[in-house]
Amino acid sequence: MKSTSRRVFMMQVAVASTAVIASQAMAQAKVDEKDPQAAALGYAADTTKVDAKKYPKHAAAQKCSNCQLYAGKPADAAGACPLFAGKQVAANGWCSAYAKKA
Ligand code: SF4
Repeated sequence: MKSTSRRVFMMQVAVASTAVIASQAMAQAKVDEKDPQAAALGYAADTTKVDAKKYPKHAAAQKCSNCQLYAGKPADAAGACPLFAGKQVAANGWCSAYAKKA
């Protein structure tokens, strides 16, 4: 009886750990430049690689980390953006919805 309840407990721990790892992986998923939403907004993970002909108003100093919509901390390499729910944008990224942080 004791070994059965220990086995059940160990299985519950294993299931709980797997769920935590899966949720962490989902929280850390980065926006793929090829995602339809990202492509529509001209998102680039590296602001220096934005197509200047397509986005003439883009400037190299503009990046997610100094955008009003960016929810990451200044030292973070990536953070949340409401335009890409459930994913993270690169701190050095950029998209055409960029709005300078006040
Ligand atoms: Fe980055 Fe701002 Fe575009 Fe979000 S809205 S992807 S934070 S530039």
